[in-house]
Formats: sequence, structure tokens, C-alpha cells
Amino acid sequence: MPQKSDSLYDVLIIGGGPAGYTAGIYAARANLRALLIEGATTVSQITVTDMIENYPGMPEGISGFELVQRFQNQAEKFGLEITRGDVASLVKETHAGRETWKVAAEKDYRTLTVIAATGANWRKIGVPGEEVFAGKGVSYCATCDGPFYRNQEVIAIGGGDTAIQEAIFLTHFADKVTVIHRRDRLRAAKILQERAFANSKIEFLWDSVVEEISGSNFVEGVRVKNLKTGELKDISAAGVFVFAGLTPNTGIFRGMMELDKNGYIITDGNMRTSAKGIFAGGDCTSKLLRQVVTACGDGATAAFSAQLYVEALKGETY
Ligand code: NAP
Repeated sequence: MPQKSDSLYDVLIIGGGPAGYTAGIYAARANLRALLIEGATTVSQITVTDMIENYPGMPEGISGFELVQRFQNQAEKFGLEITRGDVASLVKETHAGRETWKVAAEKDYRTLTVIAATGANWRKIGVPGEEVFAGKGVSYCATCDGPFYRNQEVIAIGGGDTAIQEAIFLTHFADKVTVIHRRDRLRAAKILQERAFANSKIEFLWDSVVEEISGSNFVEGVRVKNLKTGELKDISAAGVFVFAGLTPNTGIFRGMMELDKNGYIITDGNMRTSAKGIFAGGDCTSKLLRQVVTACGDGATAAFSAQLYVEALKGETY
């Protein structure tokens, strides 16, 4: 990963997912001095997505890992600097009479603007056994752990796109996948629902929640409660996949800018946050649709807004 000198960046992008890399492509191509910091201890969620089939222009589908790799190669081609690190804090400073940001990761960086593209992480359901058996049968990633459950029975929790897409993926390995959903219908896209209903390896338990995950060294089963009848039952399973949605990775921005009630960053239509010089895009922002294509659009807009801001600061406005 190439890096130049330590002086002031025009744009510093936090996050190595579709929003971050698209911002990187646009910023570098606009000849801005741009650095992208990819998480050192976390990966972009899209890189562990088995198959993306709704990214325009790729009707045959593409794995999340390959798509992000392509974004990265394209950004590097235009001169984006890339490093790894976990950003701990951002502090406003003045540098040569201009407002700048000091971004502390494995070392300190100085920049005129920041683009927050930190994404979101898997939400936990907070039941007994979830933490104890994490990595011992409890998983949040079918692509990572699905192959361990060849010819076994597993549980998938949730009714959104992720739960249904990943439940279908798990049937490539497991003999049976029981989807446990707290309502009587799914939130997932209709095309995914149809595929899941037609899959003989998938069973649904409606109006139900997992109350406890149990086992000895590894997961052996779950206790499920029917929310309508109150009935409790135990189901054996070797694996429990939790697909209960996302929580945004926005802790470092708390108190610095406006967040919505769920912690997502509020931006205007030009991806400006309420903090001057900080722009945001992708899954960490408050928005209707979290998809690769919308993240890319956000990243491009955030980079262009940052470019206009930098040009105004430097007195180079067109
Ligand atoms: P999501 O849409 O928020 O769905 C989360 C699911 O988990 C919901 O069904 C929710 O139930 C359930 N849930 C939440 N908390 C729970 C709890 N404590 N216990 C039990 N169940 C719980 O999240 P997602 O499926 O991860 O999707 C996130 C975003 O990525 C969405 O915008 C989605 O469209 C996108 N995505 C798209 C694709 C695709 O296009 N192929 C694939 C994956 C993800 P309720 O329904 O009752 O709220």
C-alpha cells in the first residue's frame, strides 16, 4: 500500500467498503491528496457477502470480496493512498490558518476534510449463550462459517434480506436450516422470499424468538418461545446464525455531529454532516436503502462535496 509524506491531506476517508473506495476513486481522480484508512480489526461487511446480484452491469453476480478488490484496484490506479488502522479519535485543529482535522489511528494524520464511511456491524440479540458460544456455534457470517455445518442442522434468526439470503446460502452445506422470525411475515425482498419458500431444506418458525442458546463446549440447540401462544420448545442445532440487522460504527463521531436515534450519521443531500469539513456515506448514514449501489453513490457525492469544500478553502473555487 503506497504512502507519501506525512503532511496535510485534502481528504481522509475512514472505511474500506463500497462508499469509502468510491469516495477514494473520485477524490484521487480529482487530484486531491487523499488517504483511505481501512479498519485493522474489522472488515467491510460486503467482503463477506457471498454473492451480489443487484449491482448494475453485473447480471451474472459477483462476490463481495471480489467487488471491493476491484474498487480498491481502481482507486489505487488513480493514486489513492491506502493504509490500515483503527481510528480512535478526530480532533479539530488549526493548521497554517486553516481549520483541519487530526485523525488518530496507528499514528496521527492531518487533513482538511474527513469522509466517514465506517459502515455498520452485526447486531446481537442479547440472549443467554450468545456471547459464550460466539465462535463455538454462534455466528454472524454464513460465508465465513457456513462450510463448518456440512450435513448438520442450523438455525438462522431474522426476517430481513440478510437472514433470507444467508439461509439460502447455508443450504449449500447444512441439511436443514430453520429460520426463526419474530413476526408472521418476512421483511426480505420478494425474490429472496420466493426462493426460500421453494427451498425444501428451509423451514420457518413464525412469531418466535430464541430465548437461550445452549450446549456444552459447542452449541447444541436453542430454546424458542412462540410470542403468540407463549409456548416454549427446544430445538437441536449445531449452529446458530444471527442476522438481526445492523448497528452503525459511529462511536468515534458521537458528540461531534448529529446522529439519528439509532446512531446513524445524519447528512444532507450532498453528504455533508453537521460537523464542518466532515462528510459521510454508506451504511453508517441515516438512509432508506443500504445497498452497494447506494453506498457508491454516497461515496461519489461525499468526495465531490469534499472537493468543493477544499477548493473553497484554498481559494480555488471554479
Ligand atoms: P434488517 O433489514 O434490519 O432486518 C433485520 C431482521 O432481524 C428483521 O427481520 C428484524 O425483525 C430482525 N430482528 C432485529 N432485532 C431482532 C432481535 N433482537 N431478535 C430477533 N429478530 C430481530 O437487516 P439486514 O437483513 O441485515 O439488512 C440490512 C440492510 O442491508 C438492509 O437495508 C437490507 O436491504 C440490506 N441488504 C440487502 C441485501 C440484498 O439486496 N440482497 C442483502 C443483505 C442486506 P423485524 O422484521 O420484526 O424488524
